[in-house]
Formats: sequence, C-alpha cells, structure tokens
Amino acid sequence: MTMTDAGTLVRKTATGDASVTIFDPAILALPLYEDRHRALAARLESWVARHAMLPASLAGESEDERGRRYTRLLGREGWLAFAVDPAEGRDRPDLRSVCLIREALAYLDDLIDFAFTIQGLAAAPIAWFATAPGQRDLLPALRDGEIIGSLALSEPAVGSNLAALAASAVRDGNEFVLTGGKTWVSNATIADHHMVLARTGEGPGGLGLSFLLVPGGKEGLRTRAIDLMAPRAFGSLDFDGCRLPGDAVIGQGGGGFRYAMEILDFYRVAVGAAAIGFARRAFQSTVEWCRGREVAGGGRLIQTQGTANKIADMAMFLDAAALLVARAAFEFDRDLDDVVAHASMAKLFATDGAARLIDEAVQLSGAAGLVADSLPERLYRQIRALRIYEGTSEIQKMIIAGAASRPRL
Ligand SMILES: Cc1cc2nc3c(=O)[nH]c(=O)nc-3n(C[C@H](O)[C@H](O)[C@H](O)COP(=O)(O)OP(=O)(O)OC[C@H]3O[C@@H](n4cnc5c(N)ncnc54)[C@H](O)[C@@H]3O)c2cc1C
Repeated sequence: MTMTDAGTLVRKTATGDASVTIFDPAILALPLYEDRHRALAARLESWVARHAMLPASLAGESEDERGRRYTRLLGREGWLAFAVDPAEGRDRPDLRSVCLIREALAYLDDLIDFAFTIQGLAAAPIAWFATAPGQRDLLPALRDGEIIGSLALSEPAVGSNLAALAASAVRDGNEFVLTGGKTWVSNATIADHHMVLARTGEGPGGLGLSFLLVPGGKEGLRTRAIDLMAPRAFGSLDFDGCRLPGDAVIGQGGGGFRYAMEILDFYRVAVGAAAIGFARRAFQSTVEWCRGREVAGGGRLIQTQGTANKIADMAMFLDAAALLVARAAFEFDRDLDDVVAHASMAKLFATDGAARLIDEAVQLSGAAGLVADSLPERLYRQIRALRIYEGTSEIQKMIIAGAASRPRL
C-alpha cells in the first residue's frame, strides 16, 4: 500500500453508494448546530464522495485553469451561494455553513477550498457594503462562478498592519487615478474583478482607506504571477496611473479599513475550518496506513505505544479544534458581542494544530510520506499557508491577549 492509496478514503455503503466521513456526528449533534447544518453536512459528504476523483482528473491542468474550473463548478453546484448570499433573515452569510463547506472542500482538495473561499472574500465588499446598483449587479455572476474575483489588500511593504497601506487612489475630476502595488493576491492571475483597498485620503491611517472595484485587464494594471510551495492562482497587481470611474468606490469612502476587518474576522473562523478538513484527511489516511504497516519484530505500526500516543493527540486536537470553530461560528451567526477573539482562537488553534498533526502524519509514513505528490507530502505543503494568510498566528495571539487582558465591566 502506498500513502496515495491510503489517502483515497471513499468507501462503499451497504447500498453500493460511495461515502466519506468528514464530520464528527457527535459535534454536529450539539446545540451549536441546527438541523439545516446537519443536512448540509450530509449533502457535503455525499458530494465529496461523488467528486473524489476530480482533483486527480485535473492534475495535468495549470493552477489558473483549475481555479477557473473549480470556481465555475462551485457556482453551478450552488456552493458559492452560501458564501456570496446573505443567510435568510440576515445581512451576512451563515458562517457555520461556510465553515462546514470549507472543511469538506479542504478534505477533498486544497485548490477547490481555495476557489470557494477567495470567491467569498472577493464578493464580500460588494455583497456586504455596496450600495451602487451597478456594483451589486456583479453578485449573481460571482455567486454562479461565471466571473471570478480577488480581494487585494496586502502590499510588498505592508501585510499584517493594513492601516499603513500605501497604494493610493487620487481624485482627478470625475475619475480616480490608482498608483501602487498589491501582492500575495489570491486569484490575481484569473480574476475578472479585483476589490482593491487603497488610500483615498478621507482621514489618517485606517480612516483614509476605501475599496475600489477594478476590472482585471484594465489599462494601467499589470499582473505578475507568483509561484508558491503549494501552487495556486496567485500574484501581484501593479497599478501605474490606472484610471477608474468616480463611482468605483465600494460602499462609503473611508470605510475600507473597517470593511476589511469585518470581512477578515468572519473568514478567519473559516480558515480554522479548512485546517480541520486538511487535518482530518491526514488523520484518517494515517490511521489506515498504520493499520497496514508492519514493524520490525512483528505486528503493525498501529499496535505500538508510540503510535497510540500520536493518534490520541491527533484525535484530541481534532475534537478541540472542531469545538472552537463551531463555537466561534455560532457566535458570529448570533451576532454576539466580543466574537473577534474567539475567531482568532479558532484560527490559531486549528491551523497551528493541523500543521503539527500533518507533520506527525509525515513522520508516521516514513519515507513514503516524503514522496512528491503523495498525500502526506501534499498536505504538508498545503497546510503551511494557513498560519500566515488572513492574519498570522502571531497577530492572532496579539488579538487574543488584547481581549483577555481588557478589564471586564
Ligand atoms: C496563500 C496565501 C494567500 C493570500 N491571499 C491574499 C489575498 O487574497 N489578498 C491579500 O491581500 N493578501 C493575501 N495574502 C497575504 C497575507 O494576508 C499576508 O501574507 C499576511 O497578512 C502577513 O503579511 P506579510 O506576509 O506581509 O507578513 P508580515 O506582516 O511582514 O509579517 C512577517 C512576520 O512578522 C510577524 N509580525 C508582523 N507584525 C508583528 C507584530 N506587530 N508583532 C509580532 N510579530 C509580527 C508576522 O506574524 C510574521 O511572522 C495571502 C497570503 C498567502 C500565504
């Protein structure tokens, strides 16, 4: 058995249907979830089982092409609606649903999870804050995956401290002239529209930033691809006197920093959910591998005390991470106060722990886990970015410590 085989986790049910187990039914049964979430989880498991061969079937295509295909598929199959549309009776998507979808998609494939979350992030400035009808008209096509978006915040000199962003959009008559650079932008190379956070000067620091809607391929915009250790549609945007109409601002001028924080706080919880998806996949395939692997002196790897210790740590982490993510998402969905630190805890705990779990999965696999494109090797590369994007682990600790040390009234 190779680790690639062990990673193929689709089983046949008694009725002959394909099935996978992604979610823990005991956690889904808690009052943090509702019946609609349990039904969604069941639908996701059966969808993933039916699409288990999809990542391998697209392996020959470029990351850009896979990004486009996955976005279209997710739109067609209705999954993007959960990230783009508000939940019934609310003005934001249902975060528990977004988390369940990310967990299932990450379990299936890094790039399909990425396509889902970047489209949600890119749609958020418009869906949550835009008032201009022309901008809102883009939402159906974003939801259906017919057009692709990006959310461009980071700059070469500024990542964690968004209030210090330098790219500027200066008024010139009825137009804005956008100058400066964005980098580390997901979907940069394939997006039809970029939501760009730039300095528009309404106030100092974070008070002077706005989101601008910038069509891909616009004159004055140059896109450069960046290769990552886990490749994806990714790159930099260089604006050199890029002229935009005066109504390119999304929502309120000067509101961009607040919008960005709200969007990142929400999606941060979902990064934790994705980490659990990667980690569950690693956990299940590792247990399967350890059951089959013979050790010196007889017996199987799974029967050794050292392995038992590792498996226990992994199982305990998965439980704790799933509970933290469920709790934070539940609080967002109920508009409870003081949710930001819980979002940070969920992200930090799940992403740091998933990285450790996957490292142990590689260790238990021996050299087989280092083979290029084996499941452990892929997951090892893919999990790394989650501790950096949407707020690094260090920044999460600052947020948590800030909230924990605030005097309670
Ligand atoms: C896969 C991936 C996808 C991404 N997608 C997007 C995207 O779509 N759009 C976008 O705009 N950006 C995106 N990013 C960028 C990402 O948001 C930034 O990388 C992240 O915010 C960190 O910024 P930085 O890389 O500039 O690191 P820096 O901010 O320079 O941080 C470097 C190191 O310093 C630490 N550090 C920073 N400040 C402090 C402090 N005050 N105290 C202690 N330690 C500190 C950090 O924790 C980190 O370890 C993506 C990144 C990755 C890896």
